Amino acid sequence: MTIEKNIKDIKTDISVIKQSSNLSFPETVLLAVSKTQPPETIEKAIKAGLTEFGENRVQEAEAKWLGLQKRYPNIRLHLIGPLQTNKVKAALALFDVIQTLDRPKLADAIAKELKSWGIEESKKKTIPQFSNSSIPQFYIQVNTGEEPQKAGVIPEEADAFIDYCIKELTLPVVGLMCIPPEDQPPAPHFALLKKIADRHGLKELSMGMSEDYATAIRMGSTCIRVGRKLFGERHAS
Ligand SMILES: *Cc1c(COP(=O)(O)O)cnc(C)c1O
Repeated sequence: MTIEKNIKDIKTDISVIKQSSNLSFPETVLLAVSKTQPPETIEKAIKAGLTEFGENRVQEAEAKWLGLQKRYPNIRLHLIGPLQTNKVKAALALFDVIQTLDRPKLADAIAKELKSWGIEESKKKTIPQFSNSSIPQFYIQVNTGEEPQKAGVIPEEADAFIDYCIKELTLPVVGLMCIPPEDQPPAPHFALLKKIADRHGLKELSMGMSEDYATAIRMGSTCIRVGRKLFGERHAS
């Protein structure tokens, strides 16, 4: 199986789902999750036409992507794994999108770092029209299953945290992200994420992975994060 074939299959799935309903669906980004994949494999995926990539570790991403970003400046790189406050500086320099904003301490550290860049408030607020800027966009990760081992703000605290990030810190938050528990049907988790996003007028919903992207698309996902279905099974890193 080649990456070209896998991309084609996923895109076909997406369009079949969207055409089989009268509902209007948002655009869905296919985010290629390239964690544990070597740069040669990533380069093949870029040549096959993919433009958005996700990594879950800052150090691994730096090692692989500093070179790739120079050669392919139009790629958008997303952080989809937990971010420690001591890696904020490196993460903001490397990633175009950070999907795992999940706690006040992290939000404060990000706001402080951006302030040191001298980014004006007015520019942050118009971020959707500003997608070529070097200021990353943010998604807030919600731990919809309230799993203790998982990152993300719990649903009960999500409203206050979203308001804090947007209204007090004026961070360019564009949407929400979730990873449902593995042992439960994902649909209720996707529905909850959408409900919270709608309350705040947030348009972007990062939900759906290799096993459940079809459900996620039906429920309004704007970004599916696909690893194994594109690249095959991962080797332990
Ligand atoms: C690894 C990972 C994915 C991709 O998972 P697959 O099952 O390989 O598609 C998606 N999202 C996050 C946050 C991940 O860590």
